[in-house]
Amino acid sequence: MNLKDVKNEWVNELSQPLMIAGPCSAESEAQMLETARRIRETNAQVSIFRAGIWKPRTKPNGFEGVGVIGLNWLKKVKEEYGFKTATEVANAHHVFAALEADVDVLWIGARSTVNPFTVQEIAMALRGTDKPVFVKNPVNPDLALWVGALERLLGQDIKNLGVIHRGFSTYQKTKYRNNPNWQIALDFKSQFPDIPMLIDPSHICGNRTGLADITQEALNVGYQGAIIETHCNPDEAWSDASQQITPEVLAELIGNLKVRNSGIAGFDNEMGRHRTLISDLDFQLIELLSQRMKISEKIGKLKKENDIAIFQPERWKVITEYATQKAKETGMSQEFIEKVFKAIHEESIEVQNSIMIDR
Ligand code: PEP
Ligand code: MN
Repeated sequence: MNLKDVKNEWVNELSQPLMIAGPCSAESEAQMLETARRIRETNAQVSIFRAGIWKPRTKPNGFEGVGVIGLNWLKKVKEEYGFKTATEVANAHHVFAALEADVDVLWIGARSTVNPFTVQEIAMALRGTDKPVFVKNPVNPDLALWVGALERLLGQDIKNLGVIHRGFSTYQKTKYRNNPNWQIALDFKSQFPDIPMLIDPSHICGNRTGLADITQEALNVGYQGAIIETHCNPDEAWSDASQQITPEVLAELIGNLKVRNSGIAGFDNEMGRHRTLISDLDFQLIELLSQRMKISEKIGKLKKENDIAIFQPERWKVITEYATQKAKETGMSQEFIEKVFKAIHEESIEVQNSIMIDR
């Protein structure tokens, strides 16, 4: 069987858009039950309750998850509030424990998707089950690695597959915790339009303010739903505190979403897709320009310390030369690129000037 033939009735039977919510980490039974109860009480259209039981942390000695005891709490959430449940698995031991505890849906985290050994181990542990599995994009922007992970699962006959777009890691700090890089996710979607794709605005934004916009953007281009970190007391959360929201804020967010075209059908909104990509590139352009100007500031300081004139004609010549050369290579109008670089250079001189006159 080929990935292109994967069908996902199990997702279509759940509410559309498919919403998964719950805390980044399971912390205590009380925290889990209160979060679930409050989500229920808002009547928000959430079908699956998430909680991380084993937490992959960047540095050692932080909170690494409560471990198997948390699986009992997920079970209680299911029994008392009727949600399906979901957790992250990162090795065969996690898979066996989650299967044993009857967790309904599993996901493979971004740090695991990057490692073919890990994905293979998880896939083999799942063999013979019909467990639904969502695969988060790898932390690095590598479409083949993402697709490869799904192929490994399918290779073990795991057919209820979905993906989660959680953004990509960058060295440069931007307004996002993980850059959405929509192009990669949309390329995935073009290749496999039947595989459900969810957005994870929490790990993309890393804060609470951008969640609604990213979620709406995803629905506009035909994503099937979202996974949003939700906690009864976000400020006190043991992991990812800054991006978690309360059940009440979640309900408001969901209530404000405009579902333009249900599910996958929305993907034929080609205009929306192009606009998303353009906005993504514009955002990257602005980030790059801001980085460039910060370097100009440093140069301005050096020039000031060493008493060097700001405008250096031979340097400007070098810049125009490589810019027009690059314009030629990429098939763009040299005139246009010259105009753009003149504007950039002028601003850079302006920035350096203000440093010179600053005492
Ligand atoms: C999570 O969902 O809490 C998580 C660890 O996500 P990711 O793998 O996307 O970092
Ligand atoms: Mn998290």
